[in-house]
Amino acid sequence: MADAQYILPNDIGVSSLDCREAFRLLSPTERLYAHHLSRAAWYGGLAVLLQTSPEAPYIYALLSRLFRAQDPDQLRQHALAEGLTEEEYQEKLEHVILGSKAAQQNPAEVRSLWQTCGELMFSLEPRLRHLGLGKEGITTYFSGDCTMEDAKLAQDFLDSQNLSAYNTRLFKDVDQDGKPRYEVRLASVLGTESALHSEMTSRLKSYEFRGNHFQVTRGDYAPILQKVVEHLEKAKAYAANSRQEQMLAQYIESFTQGSIEAHKRGSRFWIQDKGPIVESYIGFIESYRDPFGSRGEFEGFVAMVNKAMSAKFECLVASAEQLLKELPWPPAFEKDKFLSPDFTSLDVLTFSGSGIPAGINIPNYDDLRQTEGFKNVSLGNVLAVAYATQREKLTFLEEDDKDLYIRWKGPSFDVQVGLHELLGHGSGKLFVQDEKGAFNFDQETVINPETGEQIQSWYRSGETWDSKFSTIASSYEECRAESVGLYLCLNPQVLEIFGFEGADAEDVIYVNWLNMVRAGLLALEFYTPEVSSWRQAHMQARFVILRVLLEAGEGLVTVTPTTGTDGRPDARVRLDRNKIRSVGKPALERFLRRLQVLKSTGDVAGGRALYEGYAAVTDAPPECFLTLRDTVLLRKESRKLIVQPNTRLEGSEVQLLEYEASAAGLIQSFSERFPEDGPELEEILTQLATADARFWKCPSEAPSGQA
Ligand SMILES: [Zn+2]
Repeated sequence: MADAQYILPNDIGVSSLDCREAFRLLSPTERLYAHHLSRAAWYGGLAVLLQTSPEAPYIYALLSRLFRAQDPDQLRQHALAEGLTEEEYQEKLEHVILGSKAAQQNPAEVRSLWQTCGELMFSLEPRLRHLGLGKEGITTYFSGDCTMEDAKLAQDFLDSQNLSAYNTRLFKDVDQDGKPRYEVRLASVLGTESALHSEMTSRLKSYEFRGNHFQVTRGDYAPILQKVVEHLEKAKAYAANSRQEQMLAQYIESFTQGSIEAHKRGSRFWIQDKGPIVESYIGFIESYRDPFGSRGEFEGFVAMVNKAMSAKFECLVASAEQLLKELPWPPAFEKDKFLSPDFTSLDVLTFSGSGIPAGINIPNYDDLRQTEGFKNVSLGNVLAVAYATQREKLTFLEEDDKDLYIRWKGPSFDVQVGLHELLGHGSGKLFVQDEKGAFNFDQETVINPETGEQIQSWYRSGETWDSKFSTIASSYEECRAESVGLYLCLNPQVLEIFGFEGADAEDVIYVNWLNMVRAGLLALEFYTPEVSSWRQAHMQARFVILRVLLEAGEGLVTVTPTTGTDGRPDARVRLDRNKIRSVGKPALERFLRRLQVLKSTGDVAGGRALYEGYAAVTDAPPECFLTLRDTVLLRKESRKLIVQPNTRLEGSEVQLLEYEASAAGLIQSFSERFPEDGPELEEILTQLATADARFWKCPSEAPSGQA
């Protein structure tokens, strides 16, 4: 089973990215802006195929062709009629492909595509399993013969010329004397020979660097970037303000000329465009997938403010003064004036690239982050997907909780997120003595409710929450925010803001608490017993809350090891909904007060003792958490696939096309992504891949008679 981590199960979970409400509330102009930015993102995202592996563009072309001729259902019927069983249909791809309608229409081309990528796409040869340089793995950011030494040398060269690696790839050749020659190729619409003078043209030439020959060229992904630029031009007409226009103009310049400096200028306008209704970012952004870590993967996203959700969040902020009084600490421990934290939640319409994050913190240019700042955005509908799951994959819940959980998970999550971000992180005061010795609290009258005494400790000038609580600061604070969410969701006024009353409100509360308890168990995946440490602040926080609620006793929460129908270890969590107010609330109240008092007074020793005590994972009965951790790992769901919608222009109106959460829905969303130029794009991708194919062929692998 050593290969298990490289094999996706056939029944992998698929979820849809739901942005219907946010899209519905956009104005016609905002929709047009979002549409053209989405088109630009999808076109540019195709470059990722060329940035991944030599076979990736061919796999894409083959599958596109296959599903354009027949949808998944027709293809399945066809295969079953040919005598394949359901199981074989999933596994015998060659038979399916060569018998498909696409192959009947274009036998030579489909066969050739299959021959190019058929074996490679299933190969588990160690070098082909993961990204890496040379013999270490596979990448197309570098030609196949580049090693870490070559990558370092190229980086030194780029640094010496003040060129960014973000939009480049490196190709190595050997000349007649056996001397290496390097090509640094920039991504751009224009080629190296272009006559138009720009800041870039003077950089496109030969260089000698430490006795090595370097040639800087451009034009990588040119036909793809051409389409990106066309749609950015169209989007410009619907920009909401001049900053967005100038931002797009700079991105167009960047993709046309191959200039990262222009992209930085665009990013500067982007940072200044605060709180737009339609948010986006596009370019060569994240460098995680470059084995050397400096080349950016193309990514483009378009996200929208969910105006309905924002209105609810604003309502929460407007009621903050009143709601903060409900929190279980004396008024002196609350800020003199409520300051709403900087929190933006957006729903993603489009995210092209190799994956979709649940939040973004960009730009990545350090110089810009220092001088201009950055944006920190939570992507609400992506977060929701992470928690959504099919009924049969819903682990650790009682059967009769599952339907309720599925029904109310989304709404209760919205309530929890709003409370966590706004009143959780936004609440509580730190007691501070400034550099002149003045206190921001009354030393005479303020009493510590835990000890009944005056305040004994506080933050001195220069000390901060993070500097004092260091290693536990972020998880402790997340725990405080999560606890505020659980505590305040019991408040009828809060639930009314979100539109819930009566029995519905009770269900929202129950599912919110049940989810926290289950999350506390799932969190064990993020604990490393070998070093007794937690790897994720939010997960640790949820485990701590589970411990607090277990400690409350009286049958409020139970975690029971069981045996699954497959005979292997399993577990059940139960929450007694009749005891949430009578047992759960007082326990959470005591805990939350202690968290806040220790935080306000900067009592690091007390805070550590409390927090680390609850966060400790042992095999002590009755829960035996270390053993439960093995069960959690055993029952862990594979990472889900996400189906994204498309947008389509009909006359002057933009339609949102949504797809079902299934493999067929996922395929359909891809098939309808490029309705006009699908075949042209497949041609472009395979031509670009073929033009560079020699860089990844071992001489010994080349068929005889071929150069
Ligand atoms: Zn938080």
